[in-house]
Amino acid sequence: MIKALGYFWELIRGALITTRHFVVNMVFHILRLFHIRTRRAGAVTWQYPEQKKPLAVRHRSLHRLTTREGGKPRCVACMLCATVCPSECIAIEAAEDPDPEIQKYPSSFVIDLNRCCFCGFCVEACPEDAIRMDTGIIDIAQTSHDDLIFGLDKLLK
Ligand code: SF4
Ligand code: SF4
Repeated sequence: MIKALGYFWELIRGALITTRHFVVNMVFHILRLFHIRTRRAGAVTWQYPEQKKPLAVRHRSLHRLTTREGGKPRCVACMLCATVCPSECIAIEAAEDPDPEIQKYPSSFVIDLNRCCFCGFCVEACPEDAIRMDTGIIDIAQTSHDDLIFGLDKLLK
């Protein structure tokens, strides 16, 4: 009997907490409707994916490789990003560039996003500003592992 009462009390307590949040949010939204500024705003539900929340400027989203004038990748295949990557998900193959100023370029550059933890270390380590995570693309979920393996074609888009 005592156990049943305790269970019943928890139900009432849960309903009271929900009601309290509902009323408080309603008050804040009504105040906002009348342009009355308050320290905190009422809870907002973003209707994703139709309505997307703006990302912070420093948000780390899908990677991209930057290019030089003429379309060549800025990457010089120094391997720093692959070395620093804690998930070991970057694989680069270097090739000789005929331009002595550049020396090397990546003939293959693959990021396996199945393993990436979006730490941003690759971006921090790059001495050429050749890799960035500023695309703003965050909806990258796929149904196949293969679709999350990004090569030069996708990274240079
Ligand atoms: S964000 Fe982190 S885990 Fe992902 S590729 Fe870059 S260094 Fe590796
Ligand atoms: S650190 Fe930069 S330049 Fe070096 S391999 Fe990675 S992307 Fe290319």
